Amino acid sequence: MNKFCCPGCKGALTEGTSALVCTACNVEYPLQDGLPCFSQTEKYFGEYSKREMEAMIEFAKQSGWRNALDEYAKGQKEFVKDLVLDDRRGNFSRLVNLNGSERVLDLGCGFGGVSLQLAKQVKEVFSLDASFHRVSFLNIASQQDKITNIFPACHEDVVNLPYPDEYFDLISLVGVFEYIPLSYPQYSTREAHNVFLRELYRVLKPGGVLYLGTKNRFGWQYLAGGFDHNGIRFGPVLPRLVADAISRVAHHKPYRIIVYSHREYKKLLAMAKFGDLEFYWPYPGYQHPDAMVSMDKAFDIDDKQIAAIIGTGFKKGFLALLGRLGLLRYIVPHYSIVAKKF
Ligand SMILES: [Zn+2]
Repeated sequence: MNKFCCPGCKGALTEGTSALVCTACNVEYPLQDGLPCFSQTEKYFGEYSKREMEAMIEFAKQSGWRNALDEYAKGQKEFVKDLVLDDRRGNFSRLVNLNGSERVLDLGCGFGGVSLQLAKQVKEVFSLDASFHRVSFLNIASQQDKITNIFPACHEDVVNLPYPDEYFDLISLVGVFEYIPLSYPQYSTREAHNVFLRELYRVLKPGGVLYLGTKNRFGWQYLAGGFDHNGIRFGPVLPRLVADAISRVAHHKPYRIIVYSHREYKKLLAMAKFGDLEFYWPYPGYQHPDAMVSMDKAFDIDDKQIAAIIGTGFKKGFLALLGRLGLLRYIVPHYSIVAKKF
């Protein structure tokens, strides 16, 4: 049987030479370069223009994917290389007890930085992205490195995933959650997140874990007037209606890249029936965490790892005070959230 299912009816797919076929829906999902494409059209986005990305993929095929990254990350794009190669990208797995037998979904995998790290730790990694070009790059990287446990696919409609019920032990969402409402203008932002979480719940096994690496609405970067992903200063801190009005005037689009507060994440996840929530502060950030500091327990200021993070002098005193008052959890910039399905 095929490793995917029909995103429409969730029925089994048969594998043809150039497509996966759902006989019930009478739909063919094309295999492009061997990769299943479940979306009718590709929504292209990313760090490179589509033309650059195509050239990069050709380069990767000819001269190796690492050389392609070197070549195309020169100058302004060094962060892309870090996103793909930095082994800290898989560090969040410390928060989950892995035994090597897991099947994992890396949703919104991009170039596959997280997938490549997880593939060393678990049995199977299913990497999904709306951009065919990005999963195509990951596919080339896996083939060239002879990695056989990464299964990339291209699909945009993440509230209708091409996987059966109770399929995964772990779902990783790193820097993805906030963007979901953009793809579902028919829903309110809150409703888009609800529907999405319910779909994640469906594909998780009982006892399975959802990992969210994301930002805090009231993180100090925003309280201090930083720009958010919608391009608005103080954006997340403002009442949503105000942020939306500013976005419509300043950028001619609704405010739909949404981050939540500690309390709001708890509420959203509980509404989708997730439990056993744990909050961590990924430091220096959720993309490349060196450390994960629990925000549920009082932290030990003399712990070596924490001491290195909070530094010395005024900063140390201030953060320690907030920690002692139990307030730090509300204003750290990023969250690593672990949630369980029962
Ligand atoms: Zn079907």
